[in-house]
Amino acid sequence: MSVRVRIAPSPTGNLHIGTARTAVFNWLFARHQGGQFILRIEDTDLERSRPEYTQNILDGLSWLGLDWDEGPFFQTKRMDLYQQKVQELLDKGLAYRAYDTPEELDAMREAQKARNEAPRYDNRHRNLTPEQEAALVAEGRKPVIRFKIDDDREITWIDLVRGKVTWKGRDLGGDMVIARAADAETIGQPLYNFVVVVDDIDMGITQVIRGEDHIGNTPKQILLYEALGATVPEFGHTPLILNQAGAKLSKRDGVTSISDFQRMGYTAEALANYMTLLGWSPPEGMNEIFTLSEAAQHFSFDRVNKAG
Ligand code: GLU
Repeated sequence: MSVRVRIAPSPTGNLHIGTARTAVFNWLFARHQGGQFILRIEDTDLERSRPEYTQNILDGLSWLGLDWDEGPFFQTKRMDLYQQKVQELLDKGLAYRAYDTPEELDAMREAQKARNEAPRYDNRHRNLTPEQEAALVAEGRKPVIRFKIDDDREITWIDLVRGKVTWKGRDLGGDMVIARAADAETIGQPLYNFVVVVDDIDMGITQVIRGEDHIGNTPKQILLYEALGATVPEFGHTPLILNQAGAKLSKRDGVTSISDFQRMGYTAEALANYMTLLGWSPPEGMNEIFTLSEAAQHFSFDRVNKAG
């Protein structure tokens, strides 16, 4: 099967060096394998997404020489598909409407804290009878849509960077919200973990390569692939770019976006070379100064570091 990978930035800020580096690894892998590199703009956070950030991301990727084969696709234009897929899970009995109020959820978490338990949704609305549901609707409550997570499941995948990773269903926080407030008939705004899976299935993504900060989302997403009857892709979680204190590089560290480096006078070639070396070791004998095309000839995940 031919390789199809993607980069899926959220346009809530300028192109961050971490996102750009994830794009580099996806691009190198696609080019090495003769596959496709797809660009998807995850603009579902309507409050924080801005067209100027989308432009900054497109400009930054182009400047670095990371050309994409398909896209940019925009999630805000794909809402019908997401709602249809939420409905599919409701129809299959794999998702349900939960009517808890924010106050009830807070009280539940407080009680868990008092018992020294990790916070989780206790699935209390999983098996409402039609009468119970009607009574909650009559109170004027707005439901969210939750996807059922089996506490007894064990989810395992062979990560392209980290090897075998296993999670227990019970550590995933209980039945997860896949769409925001709706009412008894309609579906509200679908959320990240859900839309990302629907899109990756729809776009035929074969390897999901992204930053390690997403590792806790992967077991949830694997369960969603199964529920939607789709083939689970391979996953690779790349190490993060850290600051001197060993924390994830953030705005407070000053220079973090590609356009910052561009303004400071770095060349695209030097920056791409440096970002690749932050996480990938070229094979023995290869010069450390290389173009992205040269790196693509030799790229493989077994030379990507695990540590940030
Ligand atoms: N929009 C997500 C992000 O920017 C994408 C994560 C993913 O690649 O699945 O972090």
